[in-house]
Amino acid sequence: RSVKTPPEGGVQPGADVAELAVVFARQRDGFAGSAVPSLHERRATLLKLQRLVEQNRLVFIEAANADFGTRAAFETEMSEIVGTISIIRYMRRNLRSWMAPRRRSASIWFKPAKNRVEPAPLGVVGVVSPWNFPLHLALIPAATALAAGNRVMLKVSEFTPHTSAVLKRLIEENFSRDVFYVTDGGGEVASAFTKLPFDHLLFTGSTQVGKIVAKAAADNLTPVTLELGGKSPVIVDADYPIGRAAATVAWGKLYNGGQVCISPDYVLVPQGREKEFAIAVVEEARKLYPKAAGNPEYTAILNQRHYDRITAYVTEARSLGAEVISVEDPELGRERRQLPLTMIINPPEDATVMKDEIFGPVLPIIGYDGDETAADFVNARSTPLALYVLSAVKRHQKRWLSRIASGSAVVNDMMIGYLQNDLPFGGRGGSGYGAYHGREGFDAMSHLRPVMYQRAIFGRTGGQMLYPPYGKVADLL
Ligand code: NAD
Repeated sequence: RSVKTPPEGGVQPGADVAELAVVFARQRDGFAGSAVPSLHERRATLLKLQRLVEQNRLVFIEAANADFGTRAAFETEMSEIVGTISIIRYMRRNLRSWMAPRRRSASIWFKPAKNRVEPAPLGVVGVVSPWNFPLHLALIPAATALAAGNRVMLKVSEFTPHTSAVLKRLIEENFSRDVFYVTDGGGEVASAFTKLPFDHLLFTGSTQVGKIVAKAAADNLTPVTLELGGKSPVIVDADYPIGRAAATVAWGKLYNGGQVCISPDYVLVPQGREKEFAIAVVEEARKLYPKAAGNPEYTAILNQRHYDRITAYVTEARSLGAEVISVEDPELGRERRQLPLTMIINPPEDATVMKDEIFGPVLPIIGYDGDETAADFVNARSTPLALYVLSAVKRHQKRWLSRIASGSAVVNDMMIGYLQNDLPFGGRGGSGYGAYHGREGFDAMSHLRPVMYQRAIFGRTGGQMLYPPYGKVADLL
């Protein structure tokens, strides 16, 4: 049964659950019955994806703006368009070397054998994507799976219906659903989707749903990559210029309205300097966004549910006695859900804002007394996706990095570690497991099969020395 092509920019009716099993079976049979896609074919597939993004740049910018209410056009351009094209280009450029067999040495006893690790596609890969970068986080995992020679079923977020509808239509127009299929269904479809016996599943989303997905995949022994969220801390070293730290944090916290998995969640500053830091952040934030309300460059909170969730953190922290500083009266942007940057100074540890991933422009600022205290503070929580260390002293940088575990880390900057195409990206502990991007992404979506090529010399192979009778070999040991 075919899915109706939705009206452009319209709300999707959602795919039928029954359809998922049919598409899965067709993809699996198609994969088993065809030759492994060549380098040339994979590059052509990636180029088609790249063109699809390039040629629909404005459509995607408009769709994201409609999804968020206000989505800074530059942020869509940078993250969804340029960021996506750049990674796909990088894949096309490096694919030959990633696909090539990797030579390994053979143990001297078994010469003249030659050993290789040969990457092979897995089969049908499932991808589940979130709403915060609805194009990028759908296409990059899918492109990685296609680059590795797999077929892909993609479940995009139901909370960004405009972007999801455009993406679904474009994929349907450009690809056979037996190779690359997209569904945009809600909870019921999502749940049925992750129960399919995929050969690999890459899930990007919340830690809570990630656990459900991992359990569903376990029933099929489907390997999973979990790209989850968490509370990514910033540690400001005592020697670091406070103005520079404030500028970096203000930019990082307000990009996409704070709705980034690697947004700085909270900041640790030397005790006694919390207020000074907060005032510096206000100053820097106002330089970036002279106003939040009505500013087309200031991305809104996706929907009312998230807006209420984020504002409740502030209300609760205030009721618990914490000092709250906003860069602007929050009432001004309430209607358009443009929530101004709001700092909470030293919220109590049991405040919800110190437990949940904030995912919005609210910034707890916490004073630390001694480096060990700061490290202990982070380590007492779930392992963060990213760690940000602002320190000019190499020795200090090393110390923080060795004391604190995280999925990734950036020293003296924020978030842009993600844009380094040659670095893997992934979480650890509560922020997920496995990684993609770069060669690691290709490898995660491949089976790295070890192959030993044996050859006989004068009719004999090295391995034959293991045949009985054992006397002669035993004497050598
Ligand atoms: P979410 O977990 O609510 O949803 C993610 C996807 O899972 C959606 O497509 C949704 O339909 C689907 N889903 C929902 N319930 C499901 C179920 N029971 N079974 C299977 N699938 C189900 O996450 P979200 O609100 O869309 O995204 C925000 C979260 O994603 C944040 O926690 C953020 O940190 C995280 N995130 C992580 C990364 C990363 O790369 N690590 C990137 C972006 C966002």
